Amino acid sequence: MSASTFRFAPSPNGRLHLGHAYSALLNDRLARAAGGRLLLRIEDIDPGRSRPDLVDAVLADLAWLGLRFAAPMHQSARMAAYRATLDSLAARDLVYPCFCSRSEVAAAARRAAGDGPVLRDPDGAPLYPGPCRHLSADAVAARLARGEPHTWRLAMDRALAAPPGPLGFSTFDPEGATGFVAADPARWGDTVIARRDVPASYHLAVVTDDAAQGITHVVRGADLLAATDLHVLLQALLGLTHPRYHHHALLLDATGAKLAKSRGSRSLADLRAEGVAAAAVRARLGFG
Ligand code: GLU
Repeated sequence: MSASTFRFAPSPNGRLHLGHAYSALLNDRLARAAGGRLLLRIEDIDPGRSRPDLVDAVLADLAWLGLRFAAPMHQSARMAAYRATLDSLAARDLVYPCFCSRSEVAAAARRAAGDGPVLRDPDGAPLYPGPCRHLSADAVAARLARGEPHTWRLAMDRALAAPPGPLGFSTFDPEGATGFVAADPARWGDTVIARRDVPASYHLAVVTDDAAQGITHVVRGADLLAATDLHVLLQALLGLTHPRYHHHALLLDATGAKLAKSRGSRSLADLRAEGVAAAAVRARLGFG
């Protein structure tokens, strides 16, 4: 295995846009500069949003940009690994099943807030105030035996008490500067670590797979900076090594908003259809 291993990890729930292209090309440049390798991971755990035709489109868009990869890892094929990770956390009582619906969570968070504002995690989801945190072991066993749908939540207080020492992560940037950022995972509260339909959330899957792929360097958008606090906590709980991180600035559109298909940002496929050359896209992004 080479010393430095990077990854590009798109979610195939839409066509790639210039922001994805920037992230992929930056990973490629930094992996080359480090004499390392760049792996591709298709983050398709979401059965409702990931489509096989979009996976093919992602690969085609990357090839058009000049990026070719060895066989990618597909998260949809990794459910047994996620189950094992989840089971190991459950065996240590660091997670608990939550039977609340989304609206029950919202209502409980409003009640907990009283006259004040609802407390939210960095993604804007309400911090979970219970009630499933306090279910008795017998009640949990009975509801699981009945097959009641449930997510799994991290028991944040117990999780924070488990790993040794303060948490944080090492950073690097393209200019060669390095640093260390203290992590504050408590702000995620009892976050969902496994969904109803799959034995993982993005957070659990990304940590499991970064370790399985031997990732040493994570290069991704600044929108995932806060999530890294949770990732280093999970890595510490699971005894995994911590990669180094570089969170790059997001590309913004003319209105200053983050590029997104939902806001009508043009995809790489749109640009290609308009006759824009891949070399022009690379040059526009600073990779000419
Ligand atoms: N799949 C995520 C996305 O497309 C990126 C995950 C990561 O780089 O950790 O936004």
